[in-house]
Amino acid sequence: MRIEIQLRIVDDDNNVISEGEILQFDKGDDRLEMIGLSFDEAKAALAGIQGGVVTAQAASFLARHRSCDLCGSLLLSKGPGRTRFRTAFGTIALSSPRFHHCSCQPRTARTFSPLNLLLTARIAPELLYLETRWASLVSYGMTAELLRDVLPIGGTADASTVRRHLHKVAGRHDADLSDEQPGGLGAGEDQPLPQGSVIVGIDGGYVRNWHDRKHNFEVVVGKSMAAGHDDRYFGLVRSQDEQPGRRFCEVLRSQGLPVIQPVTMLTDGGDSVRALGGELSPGAVHIIDWFHIAMRMTGLDQYVKGLAHHNPVEALALQHRLERIKWRLWHGDGDEALIRAQGLAADVAVLNTAYPRLKRLIKAAAGLATYIANNGAGIVSYSRRWDNGERISTAFAESTVNLVISRRFAKKQQMQWSKVGAHQLLQTRTKALDGTLRDLFTRWYPGMSVNDNQVPNLAMAA
Ligand SMILES: [Zn+2]
Repeated sequence: MRIEIQLRIVDDDNNVISEGEILQFDKGDDRLEMIGLSFDEAKAALAGIQGGVVTAQAASFLARHRSCDLCGSLLLSKGPGRTRFRTAFGTIALSSPRFHHCSCQPRTARTFSPLNLLLTARIAPELLYLETRWASLVSYGMTAELLRDVLPIGGTADASTVRRHLHKVAGRHDADLSDEQPGGLGAGEDQPLPQGSVIVGIDGGYVRNWHDRKHNFEVVVGKSMAAGHDDRYFGLVRSQDEQPGRRFCEVLRSQGLPVIQPVTMLTDGGDSVRALGGELSPGAVHIIDWFHIAMRMTGLDQYVKGLAHHNPVEALALQHRLERIKWRLWHGDGDEALIRAQGLAADVAVLNTAYPRLKRLIKAAAGLATYIANNGAGIVSYSRRWDNGERISTAFAESTVNLVISRRFAKKQQMQWSKVGAHQLLQTRTKALDGTLRDLFTRWYPGMSVNDNQVPNLAMAA
């Protein structure tokens, strides 16, 4: 059979604006693979429809701007012109004539192209969104391939173009961050939440440095959680963010929380993350998350179990002492835990044993004492928080690191990043993951539909 696709566009009064054939092709019906449109047929049909629609819209806009909007005189033509508009369904070449300004309106520029008033960017927001969303989830190269596979965009999608577009989106987002500092007033301050009901976990991860392949640099990711509000991710490269407090205000605001909201930060106790916590939210209560304390204790315990094969009596005694230290930490008695950890480290250092991993045991014991000493202020009564049903662990932040960084920045796959490139990708990736990327676009382009097939469940699936 022969398939013919026609496009007819009418105005509000049903008068035909344009009419014509988009495409015709023959289809068989005697084989499975012939049933329905092929990708090539669908792409050709979409490209044809898009070309007809965009051309008609541009012509209609031009017709409305053909005369002076003050006196109504017909504008004098300066000559023809062309422009191109990139969309998800093809790049459309458009006629874009230049006109002289009307003599009743003195202007600095003598001529202008009315279509430039409409096409303030040469790429359709829908395509920009699609590129940004997919490149936030998978690599730039795969994004370009995916788009070329399913859309009639030919060779215009390539990895470097997609990356440039994503950077533009991230740059605009950063420029949008308000100058408001944490501590100022913000939206929703009329519904204050109780102290500590916003929990923010922040954690760091490392990606390979493109400029210096032997070295990595740190990226920080976080998750903000508050009962009754959607979770939000955020991320940054420290050297690329002069005022992380603004970014964090934006996170709270996007959750519908007041920016003066007191927050509780849970971190692993690392120096850089702890320092950043103070900048994100100066009044925040900082707590070392129990997960990291427990991990350290477990690591140390493993070495002590190994020692038991050589010195069972000493090992049993050490194990008992570790239990006591852990109990002190659990109850927030960092001072006593520190004294005991220092004593334990000193005793381990002078052990007389053939245990081959003694050096590691000594290092881990000394490391525990240092860790407690450095983080004394962040050690709280976990038992009381636990009894009160309050969060004591950011195991969720650990998984945020995996979710936000590992899968896209893939250190193992030898991907390399510039600091600015990583920082910008983090801005769009965190939004793609928590489902707010579309909101960003509909704020910029209110005419875009808000409903789309976002994948907020991707975060939950991890
Ligand atoms: Zn005029």
